[in-house]
Amino acid sequence: MRGVVAMDGPSGTGKSTVSRRLAQACSAAYLDTGAMYRAATLAVLRAGLGEQAPAAELARAATSASIESGTDPAAPTITLDGADVSAEIRGPEVTALVSAVSAVSEVRTELVARQHALIRAAVDGGGGIIVEGRDIGTVVVPDAPLKVYLTASPEVRAARRGRQDAKAGRDSDLHRTLADVERRDRLDSSRRVSPLYAAADALVLDTDLLSADAVLDRLRELVAD
Ligand code: C5P
Repeated sequence: MRGVVAMDGPSGTGKSTVSRRLAQACSAAYLDTGAMYRAATLAVLRAGLGEQAPAAELARAATSASIESGTDPAAPTITLDGADVSAEIRGPEVTALVSAVSAVSEVRTELVARQHALIRAAVDGGGGIIVEGRDIGTVVVPDAPLKVYLTASPEVRAARRGRQDAKAGRDSDLHRTLADVERRDRLDSSRRVSPLYAAADALVLDTDLLSADAVLDRLRELVAD
């Protein structure tokens, strides 16, 4: 596969599973931009800052962090200051703060620049990359030839997140997870910079009604076209 596939949508829609599997099936690279915002948020927490901190301080801590994203879909990695933080960035502290950090425009400018560099590295040699996030089809790669927006009801997404948490050995409570899913939807969709919405030319798929296998089959057909 050549070029970029933009995969957007809120959490719990199966975006990561489908994006990774699609990248593997198409011998493409895979970039999880949510992991980058989460690693930046971990840097903010490690700097002793929280939601009440001034935006300039959040931005300084988030943008000075050394974050490296590995783009191999078989083993995606994310490091902060040289150490693997893949598990830590999925914890409740990061999840609670990530929407606030990612609403700071300086944070987005810096991370989007890093995303552009990773995307260029993947496509310059004639390769392809599946990029997942919230603003890929609208802001990061607005000219992507294929844009997909996955949706699902909050209840189904919370149940999926709960299963993922349980599998990873994290505490999970369905009511709390549903409240978090709805809170992040609200924050991510209403922020001033790069809010979450489906690009006008995105293929919108409701995954309440579609299994990951069915979504993958549909996308493989589109990528092959
Ligand atoms: O995809 P994931 O749920 O890990 O993303 C965590 C958070 O990072 C989102 O709730 C959103 O606030 C932020 N994010 C973003 N833009 C992206 C990817 C993620 O603002 N492209």
